[in-house]
Amino acid sequence: MFDWLIVGAGFAGSVLAERITSQLGQSVLLIDRRRHVGGNAYDCYDDAGILIHRYGPHIFHTNAQSIVDYLSQFTRWRDYEHRVLTAVDGKLLPIPINLDTINGLYDLNLTSEELEQFFALRREKVDEVKTSEDVVVSTIGRELYEKFFRGYTRKQWGVDPSQLSKSVTARVPTRTNRDDRYFTDGFQKMPLHGYTRMFERMVDHSNIKIMLQTDFREIRNQIPYRRLIYTGPIDEFFDWKLGRLPYRSLHFKHVTLDKENFQPVAVVNYPQSELYTRITEYKHLTGQIHPKTSLTYEFPSDVGDPYYPVPRAENEALYKRYEAMAMARPDVWFVGRLATYRYYNMDQVVGQALATFGRIQKALHAETTA
Ligand code: FAD
Repeated sequence: MFDWLIVGAGFAGSVLAERITSQLGQSVLLIDRRRHVGGNAYDCYDDAGILIHRYGPHIFHTNAQSIVDYLSQFTRWRDYEHRVLTAVDGKLLPIPINLDTINGLYDLNLTSEELEQFFALRREKVDEVKTSEDVVVSTIGRELYEKFFRGYTRKQWGVDPSQLSKSVTARVPTRTNRDDRYFTDGFQKMPLHGYTRMFERMVDHSNIKIMLQTDFREIRNQIPYRRLIYTGPIDEFFDWKLGRLPYRSLHFKHVTLDKENFQPVAVVNYPQSELYTRITEYKHLTGQIHPKTSLTYEFPSDVGDPYYPVPRAENEALYKRYEAMAMARPDVWFVGRLATYRYYNMDQVVGQALATFGRIQKALHAETTA
């Protein structure tokens, strides 16, 4: 009999397994249907011996010192500031759009003040900003929207930005200075020896038993446990009773080239006619020195593993109905991006798991004092 069964060995499940065993001294069975721990943040050495991210590039960034302190128990860090270029009209330009993007695109020499004017002349009046298209055209105008956002968003989500909630493109700022960092968080670093090594240290405890290639649906009635933490898709937990929550997936094409470098930065976006959305070259992220280089091409798709909840009002409404079913199950803790149907970054999921642990402690305390 395990004290806890934890479904999913990504950030949500692994942080909770670590907290429960190290702080409460209780036993955990941690299962995952994949062949490895780490969830989507999993990294591994490919056949050439280059460290790659199996499920696309993961860059750690946060403003929460408490989350850095927590993870630093399991890893040292490597300095890395993420910079992304976008391939538009045959040029490689910084994204988020900044002064150098516009000057480079149009062969101009604008100052920041002149760029403000440039945008002001082009932006469209939108009475109520509701969609992803509204956000961009009301900030920088239609031409830049078409070149930088429309094609990328259509590829990524399979629908036009005019059909998507404003949250998608609102995540990408526009700058009139020359700041070309992708993230502005105070802490931006990569785990020195990779994510998988960090996860292995996190779950290395005599009271944590790990079973991989094990699906909850197959063992739910066979393994004895007292309490359950579930980090898989919430609709699947309830046997899709209310219908499927839509997800966007990705197909990854991993390649190794017989040359040392391929592109100037870790990630180059392709918002125009290419079928892929971006190419990642991992050596920029990891600092690995190697005579070859490994890349990943990302092809968005409707089929495959669930990666991105599709941000549309009707999907949120369906999730709310599943959430109500989850609230009627106080014996189960639903944590992580799949169980709460939200796009969360890694630091947010760690924060959510640590907060859940606080609630678990309170609930256990209430039980013992009742
Ligand atoms: P997951 O990592 O998805 O883990 C859930 C685990 O549960 C999975 O391993 C799954 O196999 C398992 N599981 C599900 N159902 C079952 C079942 N029935 N039985 C057994 N096991 C099950 N975040 C950032 O901060 N920075 C980034 O740069 C970044 N880049 C990203 C790039 C991509 C392409 C994607 C998809 C995500 C990115 N993220 C990034 C987000 C990051 O991946 C997540 O925040 C984080 O991995 C979420 O952790 P999780 O534990 O909630 O979910």
